[in-house]
Amino acid sequence: MNASNRVDLFGISIHDVTLPQAVKLILASLDGEKAACVFFVNADCVNLAYRDAEYKAILRDGDLVFADGVGMRLAARAFGAPLLDNVNGTDLFPELCEALSGSSRRIFLLGGAPGVAEQLRERMSDRWPGVVICGAHHGYFNEQDNERVIALIRESRADLLLVAMGAPRQEKWIAAYAEAAGVRAAMGVGGLFNFYSDRIPRAPRWMRTTGLEWLHRLWMEPARLWRRYLIGNAIFLSRIVWLSLFFRVTAKRNSIQP
Ligand code: UDP
Repeated sequence: MNASNRVDLFGISIHDVTLPQAVKLILASLDGEKAACVFFVNADCVNLAYRDAEYKAILRDGDLVFADGVGMRLAARAFGAPLLDNVNGTDLFPELCEALSGSSRRIFLLGGAPGVAEQLRERMSDRWPGVVICGAHHGYFNEQDNERVIALIRESRADLLLVAMGAPRQEKWIAAYAEAAGVRAAMGVGGLFNFYSDRIPRAPRWMRTTGLEWLHRLWMEPARLWRRYLIGNAIFLSRIVWLSLFFRVTAKRNSIQP
């Protein structure tokens, strides 16, 4: 396993690794010189990337980019390059905390509604007392507050920054400011803070293992997520169909050329 096990999906270079391997890569990135940008790409992210060139370029330049969710696995299989695992931030988080337990690595939590990051900090201290959480801040701040937030993270001497502000805001923030914040690695983790602070219950295991977690999330937050999942999933599936047809036609054309 190394950081070069990459496959191209929708023009984004994905690290094709198992979840435990992804944890190891993230831990190794904490020894690096520059701030590593760690991103999780799901079907919604792909749809966003089609509309937002800046976001797509940031994903393309990510140091560690993992495929999150059943949609990405489906796409990879359809394109003839099945992925090893579903590497999503929410499943990876407890493994990462276990691995960091007892180490001197410091984590800063940035994102979520006011109070959520602090609540997560308390839950983490109960569950992983050996993990050092050096700061927490909500994710609803504007451009004018940026300098203050960056200084807060820098002064906390965090090694790992978790940014839970939703895509594409979190990835853009990481790409622009992770280096200035002085961290070794920054991860975009979406709604993770809500789950582990017990603010929103996560889908039962059977839904997660059968690829139905999105249905549970839709049930929990229909007003916010109906467009993402009902329309977004249909658009994503149509992208898979069109691209597979394109690959098939191109492969056929190449095979009959002299
Ligand atoms: N959020 C934030 N700042 C913003 C917008 C959103 O901190 O300006 C938070 C929001 O409170 C939520 C998370 O970002 O906790 C977005 O989660 P979402 O469910 O969209 O992410 P996903 O896990 O689906 O990628």
